[in-house]
Amino acid sequence: MKNNIKQFCFPTSAKEAASLINRLKSKAVVVAGGTRLSRALLPTVETVVDLADLPLKHIAADKKWLRIGALCSVAELEKSSLLGKWACGVIVKAASHWSNALARSMGTVGGNVARAHPHNNLPPVFLALDAVAVCTDGRREIIIPFAQLLEPGLMRELGTRYIVIEVRVPAETRTWSCACARLVLTKTSWEAYTNCVVAVEQEDGAVRRASVVIGSVLPRAVRLGKAEAALIGRSCGEAAACAAETAAAAELQSLTTGAPAKAYACRTSGVMVRRCLIEAFNR
Ligand SMILES: Cc1cc2nc3c(=O)[nH]c(=O)nc-3n(C[C@H](O)[C@H](O)[C@H](O)COP(=O)(O)OP(=O)(O)OC[C@H]3O[C@@H](n4cnc5c(N)ncnc54)[C@H](O)[C@@H]3O)c2cc1C
Repeated sequence: MKNNIKQFCFPTSAKEAASLINRLKSKAVVVAGGTRLSRALLPTVETVVDLADLPLKHIAADKKWLRIGALCSVAELEKSSLLGKWACGVIVKAASHWSNALARSMGTVGGNVARAHPHNNLPPVFLALDAVAVCTDGRREIIIPFAQLLEPGLMRELGTRYIVIEVRVPAETRTWSCACARLVLTKTSWEAYTNCVVAVEQEDGAVRRASVVIGSVLPRAVRLGKAEAALIGRSCGEAAACAAETAAAAELQSLTTGAPAKAYACRTSGVMVRRCLIEAFNR
């Protein structure tokens, strides 16, 4: 492969990395685990900014947040005992859905959310858990809620203007009842028909708050507001899960404008929502 790379830089802080990319603009490309680094680098690229040395491999919790460093690999998420106990282990479960061991051990959290391919496993789970991403442009840090981060305009700025430092998940999600599931052709498929995550806060056996998120069906992961509304205040049981299934399938059908090619994905997404909710309610 022909390219015009002249130098590799190994910044030691996110601030330094962000300053480099803002100074070099289209002459620089950022690489973390390298699993998605484009095989067709733009001819303008002369500098590779390798994030490997950034001290961003932490997984820790304090009173306000669960903090996951952008350089954590997917395999590290899977092995974390803290994450295993957080929100029914839903982040670990999403990591275990990775298609292959190589991508799992090299791919990072930052790379997964910065280039949020519709089939990526982490954006739906972070969206369901009300997470935010902490980013820097080298001058200041900004905190971006996941729903905003996944918008195409902002996404283009990740790795070109901003470096993702960490993902923060609110501390109160630790006790939420969660579940996730993917419908895939084979275990090694990265592309799924549907990728579902639910997160429920229960109070006295009823749903106080709910996130219902679907990935893979639309260009980016989405929260299904109507399915969530169908759950609020209802007792945590099969009837509520069935109501959410119907609402989710209808909402997705409308979001996909009834496209026949998406009909199966909409229907099976509804089924996944029901199954995940029943699993979450029973936890
Ligand atoms: C064979 C194969 C199978 C895969 N299977 C799956 C799967 O099952 N599920 C899944 O979700 N994904 C899968 N992926 C996709 C990929 O492995 C993951 O998305 C991974 O997490 C990307 O992380 P990375 O560190 O390798 O990113 P890189 O390739 O290093 O970076 C990708 C881009 O993201 C940007 N970037 C990286 N880190 C940061 C940061 N901290 N701040 C700002 N920008 C940044 C850069 O602009 C970079 O160009 C697969 C990939 C391959 C090649």
